[in-house]
Amino acid sequence: MTSRPARAGGRLTGWAARGGGRLTGWAARGGGRLTGRTAHRGGGGASPVIEPEVAALADALARAVEGDVEFDDYARHLYSRDASMYSIRPRGVVAPRHAEDVVAAVRVAAEHGVAVLPRGAGTSLAGQTVGDAVVLDFSRYMCAILELDAATRTARVQPGVVQDQLNGRRQRTS
Ligand SMILES: Cc1cc2nc3c(=O)[nH]c(=O)nc-3n(C[C@H](O)[C@H](O)[C@H](O)COP(=O)(O)OP(=O)(O)OC[C@H]3O[C@@H](n4cnc5c(N)ncnc54)[C@H](O)[C@@H]3O)c2cc1C
Repeated sequence: MTSRPARAGGRLTGWAARGGGRLTGWAARGGGRLTGRTAHRGGGGASPVIEPEVAALADALARAVEGDVEFDDYARHLYSRDASMYSIRPRGVVAPRHAEDVVAAVRVAAEHGVAVLPRGAGTSLAGQTVGDAVVLDFSRYMCAILELDAATRTARVQPGVVQDQLNGRRQRTS
């Protein structure tokens, strides 16, 4: 996939040609689960640039999940970095609200032939959370500590929990 609309003989083809530079489909409908930044782009910000394949993927994800679906330039730029020196623009970002969202996002990504990339705090130091994929950000909603048993030194957590959170809860309950 190219990172920009394809050019043929100097003319834009595909989405850019059809939409005349405007977003169509999911963005135009304002799909309820697309979050603020994407929805607000039409209000005077810079023109969004989104490839047709990516728009189709975003549309399908927005219909399939309850959590946030962010495919605007700003989100893709934000999630192009982790604590490493690497930078790769993801296809987009999904912040799942629950396990069913994760299942749905993985299914939709597979249908579109796109990888998924889970993300916690993004503190990996070797580019583990950047890639040409749909980033699943677990830190936003799926970050609950479900059980903490000091006696058996066990915890059951959602995948977005970071160690600091766990340590804090442990201190408060001891
Ligand atoms: C200043 C600094 C100091 C550090 N010091 C240490 C240290 O002393 N010892 C040490 O061991 N590490 C250290 N690290 C590394 C860092 O702690 C680990 O990279 C961190 O634990 C990764 O967890 P994360 O939630 O941020 O994962 P991310 O960085 O978000 O992701 C890391 C990897 O895990 C995968 N992943 C994330 N969430 C999930 C999930 N829910 N399900 C499946 N896969 C998932 C990602 O796809 C990625 O491949 C340090 C990092 C920094 C920035």
